[in-house]
Amino acid sequence: MPEPSPSAFRPYDAAAFEGPRPRRRREMPDGLWMRCPQCEATLFTKIVHENLDVCPDCEWHFRIGARRRVEQLVDTGSFEELFRQIAPTDPLGFQWLGQTYAERLQKEQAKTGQTEAVLTGIAYIKGRRLVLGVMDSDFLMGSMGSVLGEKITLLIERATESRLPLVIVCASGGARMHEGALSLMQMGKTSAALARLDDAGGLYVALLTDPTTGGTTASFAMLADIILAEPRALIGFAGQRVIANTIKAELPEGFQRAEFLLEHGFLDGIVHRKDLRSEISRLIDYTMP
Ligand SMILES: [Zn+2]
Repeated sequence: MPEPSPSAFRPYDAAAFEGPRPRRRREMPDGLWMRCPQCEATLFTKIVHENLDVCPDCEWHFRIGARRRVEQLVDTGSFEELFRQIAPTDPLGFQWLGQTYAERLQKEQAKTGQTEAVLTGIAYIKGRRLVLGVMDSDFLMGSMGSVLGEKITLLIERATESRLPLVIVCASGGARMHEGALSLMQMGKTSAALARLDDAGGLYVALLTDPTTGGTTASFAMLADIILAEPRALIGFAGQRVIANTIKAELPEGFQRAEFLLEHGFLDGIVHRKDLRSEISRLIDYTMP
């Protein structure tokens, strides 16, 4: 192989460069612009926020935290939080990647301002009083630990006693591995509480948002009287790769998306974020005496 000429290794000298000069990047404050994962448009964050965190070009529904959801969904200032004092502990002394579960919880609490991955309370939607739970996928992926299960159960019991309609906005990555089997027990606990609500003739509306998966789907998310979802929300039990590897088959187009589930009878409806308030109040009027 011939020796490369020494000039090939000459370090780049900006002063000697004679071609067109690249424009200097203007400094942009963080978070001013965002990118839509569906249509890939670059969007002005403020415009997206004013549009209920929905892409103005393609209607992609961005994920939102629990506080933001409450702001968008209920009558202004009507939310009264319940059960905030119930905070998670680290019953198993779980450690992962050099971090204890207790340390991880502190970080998640500082990040989201929540004590757990669900915000629970009483609120009004278009003047209708209801019991509301909103899961937060920003908090440990909205995973279902024992305190999340406990708060959901208390909420269901509050709806049963007070005879108010129950609405739960689901967003979850599934069971919380940091709590092992204690996390799995929440499926049975919430389901039993829902059975008692049903016996008492209560109304339960679930809104499945992106993503609703694992133990949450396998329990309270799918046990509602009316199951709604946001457009394009990912809803499933196991992950797609696990399913494809197990059944050794290619999964159909749009598998585990809200539209696919509606077509196959798992959902009662898909509701655009801007229509949620009117749809939920309509359902309450229609079903509650
Ligand atoms: Zn878009």
